[in-house]
Amino acid sequence: MCGIVGYVGHREAYSIIIKGLKRLEYRGYDSAGIALLNGNLNVYKKKGKVSDLEEFLGEDKHFLNSTIGMGHTRWATHGEPNDVNAHPHYSSNKDLAIIHNGIIENYSSLKMDLTLRGHVFLSDTDSEVFIHLIDDIRINNNCSLEEAVRVALSQVVGAYAIVIIAKDTPNQLIAARKGSPLVIGLGKNEFFIASDASPIIEYTNEVVYLNDQEVAIIKDNLLTIKNIEDVQMTPYIQKLELELEAIEKGGYEHFMLKEIMEQPKSILDCMRGRVDSVRGHLVLGGLNEYLYKLINAERIMIVACGTSWHAGLVAEYIFEEFTRIPVEVDYASEFRYRNPVVREGDVLIAISQSGETADTLAAIELAKSKGAVIIGVCNVVGSSIARASHAGAYLHAGPEIGVASTKAFTAQVTVLTMIALQVAHKKGSISDHLFRILLAEIESIPDKVSTVLKLNEKIKYISSIYKDAKNVLYLGRGYNFPVALEGALKLKEISYIHAEGYPAAEMKHGPIALIDKEMPVVVIATKDSSYEKVVSNIQEVRARKGQVIAIVTEGDTQVAKMADYTLEVPATHEALMPIVAVVPLQLLSYHISVMRGCNVDQPRNLAKSVTVE
Ligand code: GLU
Repeated sequence: MCGIVGYVGHREAYSIIIKGLKRLEYRGYDSAGIALLNGNLNVYKKKGKVSDLEEFLGEDKHFLNSTIGMGHTRWATHGEPNDVNAHPHYSSNKDLAIIHNGIIENYSSLKMDLTLRGHVFLSDTDSEVFIHLIDDIRINNNCSLEEAVRVALSQVVGAYAIVIIAKDTPNQLIAARKGSPLVIGLGKNEFFIASDASPIIEYTNEVVYLNDQEVAIIKDNLLTIKNIEDVQMTPYIQKLELELEAIEKGGYEHFMLKEIMEQPKSILDCMRGRVDSVRGHLVLGGLNEYLYKLINAERIMIVACGTSWHAGLVAEYIFEEFTRIPVEVDYASEFRYRNPVVREGDVLIAISQSGETADTLAAIELAKSKGAVIIGVCNVVGSSIARASHAGAYLHAGPEIGVASTKAFTAQVTVLTMIALQVAHKKGSISDHLFRILLAEIESIPDKVSTVLKLNEKIKYISSIYKDAKNVLYLGRGYNFPVALEGALKLKEISYIHAEGYPAAEMKHGPIALIDKEMPVVVIATKDSSYEKVVSNIQEVRARKGQVIAIVTEGDTQVAKMADYTLEVPATHEALMPIVAVVPLQLLSYHISVMRGCNVDQPRNLAKSVTVE
């Protein structure tokens, strides 16, 4: 987590950095801080959001004429969110300052050592240790800052993206990364550094993504990239395809609402040029070379975290149904530490919106080291997971900025469904006829999602009834079980209401004890192979006076008689229902969150891409 912005050039740095930090605030908002160099190296930092920092700085903008600086928006890992722990951190004599994204795992032994050598630490962060270490090396080895950074990098264990500024070099920023993203924007006589391209896009579309263990030195208008062995690298300059409007709210009150509402388009974008039901074509270019590995796989492992893990669960059902290949879905954080059995030729599908999720990345490295083929399913083009994968398919859903994932989930399920169908078709485990029917069905999904979005006002009304609930249970079976999990996650993450997702049939093994007249139960009861069973589960809830909000298929009358509220969604093949059925649950949690006065786009304690383990 944490957002990083750096600027050096001819413009006034303060506004560029503040604006950039606001764009990156989805990555963390525990505190914000900037360092500006203008003769002196000044650091200003404050607990809270970027706007709190602006307020703290007030009208006095005497630092505005600085043309070099850096800023940070924090998601605390070491040390509580307060002013002192906010970044940037100074070195002892305030000659250097650092901003850091990641975790320095061996910080406490380094800190002990440095303390013995006279360093005094002001904060509880691991990051402050980093700058003292660099300073210590610089002074003791009497070397350049660049060299000291390189030596320090070989001594720290963990993940980092850092930017360093030095008082005595007014035209220099040094950046480095390992495990946390950094991109450098190349303007005309100016350079930008950021955690993602969003702070850069309005100034330039030429960027260089820094690779792991690389150090970028921007000095006197020149960018040099070296690896930590001091070997010069040739920067690979890429053109950004990101549009500025894609990262702005476009008239919506919140990014989350914008992203929910744009799902018909994002799903369409995700299928664009890939599906053609009339010709019976399904093309996933990024997979071609490794498709045979999937077709011949003896089993498929799926690893992911959070909402992506729910998409993985849907994929498990779809892959097993259509390809008949056994699938195991793991939380990446469990997989990486549980000594999993991975055999040569196994296929691992890694799902991550940002493509930077630290645990997923580590799971990939583990599986790769044991000979598995890695298929990445990411939204962010060029992200670490995309680059660490042998093959993959991008979501093409456009930037997702709301912390609660919505359009990425529907795009993930769409992409995973396409992958499964392509494998099934090539493998011959489904008939050509069924293949074409399913392709046509996928093509109809954007329109069906548009229809669901028309329920917005009704969902808003239902939200007003349940906004003060203390607990909510979400139930579903089969393909809709992961949807129940996802619905519950959406509610708890943005409205802080305790919610549980459960397979409907499991309710009687425990959660049924919670049901009384205070308990809203959201049931996904669309017409599918387990419909009748779900209807019985609804009866069980009703018998205990629980309140039922049911997601049903258009025209359903049976559930309508039993439920307190029903939300009708268009019929589709049951394998595709998760993409349609999740949408009302997204809107429900959105409205409840707004009505409770919560910060929808930046829920407490969370951050968008979890680049720490
Ligand atoms: N570990 C650093 C801190 O707590 C940076 C946190 C992060 O990147 O999320 O300040």
